[in-house]
Amino acid sequence: MDTLLTKIYADILPLVGQGKVADYIPALAEVSPNQFGIAIYSNQGELFQIGDAQVPFSIQSISKVFSLTLAMKHYGDSMWQRVGREPSGLPFNSLVQLEYENGIPRNPFINAGALVVSDMNQSRFASPHYAMREFVRRVSGNSGVYSDQKVARSEYEHRSRNAAMAYLMQSYGNFNNEVESVLKNYFSNCAIRMSCVDLAKAFNFLANKGFCQISKEQILDTHQARQVNALMATSGLYDEAGNFAFQVGLPGKSGVGGGIVAIVPNRFSICIWSPCLNKMGNSLASVAALELMTQQIGWSVY
Ligand code: GLN
Repeated sequence: MDTLLTKIYADILPLVGQGKVADYIPALAEVSPNQFGIAIYSNQGELFQIGDAQVPFSIQSISKVFSLTLAMKHYGDSMWQRVGREPSGLPFNSLVQLEYENGIPRNPFINAGALVVSDMNQSRFASPHYAMREFVRRVSGNSGVYSDQKVARSEYEHRSRNAAMAYLMQSYGNFNNEVESVLKNYFSNCAIRMSCVDLAKAFNFLANKGFCQISKEQILDTHQARQVNALMATSGLYDEAGNFAFQVGLPGKSGVGGGIVAIVPNRFSICIWSPCLNKMGNSLASVAALELMTQQIGWSVY
C-alpha cells in the first residue's frame, strides 16, 4: 500500500494547484492551494498516509454525513418523510427543486437537505453543535478537533442563499426551529477542522458495517450503514455524482474545503485533500487521485 500511495502521490502532484480554492467567503479563500494529502484506514486498524495527511482543513460538506448519522440514529426511518433519497443532478446550493417538491429536499447531502437534517438535530440536542463536535472527536479518536469560528462567522455573514432555502422550507412547514439558530449550528459543523487521518478514521464505521473501531461502538446498524453508503454513492458529489460513480465507483462525500472521503465497503475508509476545486465544487486533484487509485487496485462497488 505504501508503494501505491507514493506512486499516486507523484502522479497526481502536477495537478495540485489546478482549479480554484473556494472563495465564497474570505476565510476559505486564504487557504494555501498547493497542499495535498492522502490517508487510508483499514478495517484491521492499519493507517497509511502521505503528504499533508495530518494538516487540518475545513471539512465543510463532509460534515453532512456526520449530521445525517446523528439524525438516523435518533429518528430512524421516520426522518425520510422530511428529506428525499434521490440524486439532485444540480449544484449543492440549488433552490429550484424545493418549490416543485413542496419544500422536501431531494437528499440529505445538498445544502437544503443538510439544513433540514440540522433542524432535526436541533430539535433533539440542547447544544447541537457540541453534540456533533463530541461525536466527531469520539469517532476520530482526536479530542483536539474543533470548529473554526472565524470560518463559521464568515459563512453566517454570507448566509443569504442558505437562509433563503431554510425560509422557503419553513414556508412549506418543513422546518421546526428558528432558522437563524439552525444556520449557525450548520455553519459551525461545516467549519470543523479535521485532517485526512482524522477523517479516514472517523469514517471507519461506514466501511465496517456501522461499527467504529476507534470508539468501539456500534454507531449505526449494518442496514443503516449500507443506506448511508448508498446515499454517498448517488448524491455525495452533487452534480458530479454520476461521473464519480463512473470513474471511481465508490461511495464518496466531498466538501468545498477540498476534502473527499471514500469508502471501500468492508475494507477501507479513505480521505484525500487538496484545496483547489473543479467547476462542480469538488477537489480536482482528489477526484483524480481516487480515479487513479481505484483503477490501479480495481476497487469498486459495482
Ligand atoms: N458551508 C458550505 C455551504 O453551506 C458547504 C458547501 C459544500 O461544502 N459543498 O455553502
